Amino acid sequence: MKESTIEWTHHTANLWHGCTKVHEGCDNCYAAAISKRYGNDIWGNDKPRKQIKSVWAELIKFQKEAHAIGETHRVFVGSMMDIFEKPMTLIDHNGNQLQHTTGDLRDILFNNISNGMYPNLMFLMLTKRPSNINKYIPEAWKQTPPENVMFGTSPVNQETANNLIGHLVKVNGKRFLSVEPQLEDLTLLPWLETNSIHWVIQGGESGPRKRPFNTDWARLMMAECAVTGTPYFFKQIDKVQPIPEDLMIREFYDSDTNINHAIHIAA
Ligand code: SF4
Repeated sequence: MKESTIEWTHHTANLWHGCTKVHEGCDNCYAAAISKRYGNDIWGNDKPRKQIKSVWAELIKFQKEAHAIGETHRVFVGSMMDIFEKPMTLIDHNGNQLQHTTGDLRDILFNNISNGMYPNLMFLMLTKRPSNINKYIPEAWKQTPPENVMFGTSPVNQETANNLIGHLVKVNGKRFLSVEPQLEDLTLLPWLETNSIHWVIQGGESGPRKRPFNTDWARLMMAECAVTGTPYFFKQIDKVQPIPEDLMIREFYDSDTNINHAIHIAA
């Protein structure tokens, strides 16, 4: 994938396709719908995942492009998978079962990062399984997390926030939240006040089965981020309704200076 259409990242990288639904935020998972449309039976605990071989060449290309212009580019891992899912059986494009698992692909990526192969890429590893992060990252990362990795999770209401963020903050390193699709009012203040979260992305659901989003939820989260100095990115109401002027805030974590502040505001 050359350029991601997701506004908060430059690129998207998928090591495999396939996943299992975790909580109510997954109910209308677009990745599951796309896979089904293409005839792939790769969703669920008893289903294999499909290896994406092209990802390794894409990552090298992303690195070269970012290096050539002296920038750091964000890479979202991944839009069609969950990087911290337990190891699963893999199939190739023809449906043949492979000897290695998704866990082996994850280890290759982590080793490449540890070996400094992607100095101009910031990996945004988003998971709905943050309790697995410390289980699957290299031992060395627990003491010295890589500078170019952010670990993130996706709460959709207060219950999932309490649960998922509770696990995420046990991970050493940079942490972010993608609060999307937000389904109820929720506060992040307990974690923002302690500087445990370094970037917040928020948005409502899109698509034909979208559930309602209240813009006051965004105003609350935006205010909580402002008061704690946390970069805040408002993505969308539902991709149809225009974003109100006061919510046109699109800030990023500054990976170059490693400082927890905003570097870009779209008016
Ligand atoms: S965790 Fe993500 S990819 Fe997996 S089912 Fe849920 S929304 Fe889809």
